[in-house]
Amino acid sequence: MKSDTCENCGDREEKLYRVYRIYETIELNQFDPNFSQVLSQTVEPESEMWCLACMSLYPNVVADDQNQQ
Ligand SMILES: [Zn+2]
Repeated sequence: MKSDTCENCGDREEKLYRVYRIYETIELNQFDPNFSQVLSQTVEPESEMWCLACMSLYPNVVADDQNQQ
């Protein structure tokens, strides 16, 4: 069995998910960070395997994985 290591944090996890990382360009609101604006989003073309924690922490889109099983 191959090792399942999250490509984002490096943790070993039983369940990983194939995702595309999203890079966000954010304009920080200097008066109130809650009003910061996402200016643009770029989806990384290469998919990565991430754990659930990383998926909830960082912007990403789950890959359509129909060829994978
Ligand atoms: Zn992770």
